[in-house]
Amino acid sequence: MAFKRIDTKLIHAGQPRIAGAVEMPIFQSAMFEYAGETSYHDLGYIRLNNTPNHRALHAKLAALEGSEDALIAASGMAAISTTLLTILSAGDHLLAQSTLYGGTQYLITHDFPKLGIAIDLIDADDASSWRAKLRPNTKAIYVEAMTNPLLDVADLEGIVGFARANNLVSLIDNTFATPVNFRPIEVGFDLVLHSATKYLNGHADIVGGAVAGCADWIKRITHRMNHLGGCMDPHAAFLLNRGLMTLALRIRHQNQSTLRIAQFLQGHPAVAKVNYAGLESHPRHARARKLFGGFGGVLSFEMRGSAEQADQLFEKVTLPAVAPSLGGIRSLITRPAVTSHAGLSRDERFRAGISDGLIRLSVGIEDTDDLIEDLEQALRLIS
Ligand code: PLP
Repeated sequence: MAFKRIDTKLIHAGQPRIAGAVEMPIFQSAMFEYAGETSYHDLGYIRLNNTPNHRALHAKLAALEGSEDALIAASGMAAISTTLLTILSAGDHLLAQSTLYGGTQYLITHDFPKLGIAIDLIDADDASSWRAKLRPNTKAIYVEAMTNPLLDVADLEGIVGFARANNLVSLIDNTFATPVNFRPIEVGFDLVLHSATKYLNGHADIVGGAVAGCADWIKRITHRMNHLGGCMDPHAAFLLNRGLMTLALRIRHQNQSTLRIAQFLQGHPAVAKVNYAGLESHPRHARARKLFGGFGGVLSFEMRGSAEQADQLFEKVTLPAVAPSLGGIRSLITRPAVTSHAGLSRDERFRAGISDGLIRLSVGIEDTDDLIEDLEQALRLIS
């Protein structure tokens, strides 16, 4: 194969040449002419996830994650919910990391019990916690590559071993790492999920999701999605394909930039603590170093003063936009207590290690020195 390495796969994998077009056109047609298909799932229709824009992305994502197949979805949550609802039915039990993205956590802890699916939250770093909660009806185990917003890295290899030994389907949300920094299939995970809204598209102008894994699982998940309806629109698929072309360039820049910003913040007298797995002081630095090619573009930190200081900082920075979400070209700054984790009670947030004043920074592709100078002037003004 001419495209073995990720930068080349991002440009070439899955990309057909249609009518001589060098770049992938948008097939904005709801249906396609009947061509003798014998299965409902093969009829040409956007909801059935089989337009040329869908197919091109499925092949590209599979090549990036090193999986047999992949499926794109209308959002990260569409990919996550459809995948879990393919694996789990009433009477089944799921083990899930206790620090998951809020939307996923809400889905499994509030909606799944109503469907008869039992769940237990586990400390993904503590094997005794998984063993103690394993039941005869446990079907799957679900974790994230890096936790949000504390950027912790769980015992991912241990989770895979435990899943294999107990015949569980292992799932991982790889949104924060991306296939540039980490390819979970290579360490043995069964299914890899993404919010493509974040790094994969990278331009903060669509929502999207993806799941990658073996052909059999992806077929089953596709058929489930064909009925649940969480398909991606071809225009969004076009934008996602275009955004993906620069994924490796963006991620490498963001890896380097975020490490430098983390080091700058760690050395600043107004900053009490920085969470970034790329820092040698991070408790999971060695594990992250072993598993990942880079440490990603998100860090979080706490100021020495009160939570109000965080809001003052937001007024003084000029480059990062104060907005939720992450993973795009533009730096974004938020307070998880009032955005991603606003759904948790204050107690729950504290137990999860998320203080009121914790600040999360998603580093874009602006010049690193400009970002550091901007943070420096803002910190000077408020401290
Ligand atoms: N997974 C992670 C780690 C996320 O951060 C998010 C969104 O913030 C999601 C999944 C959900 O993705 P979406 O917003 O595309 O539905």
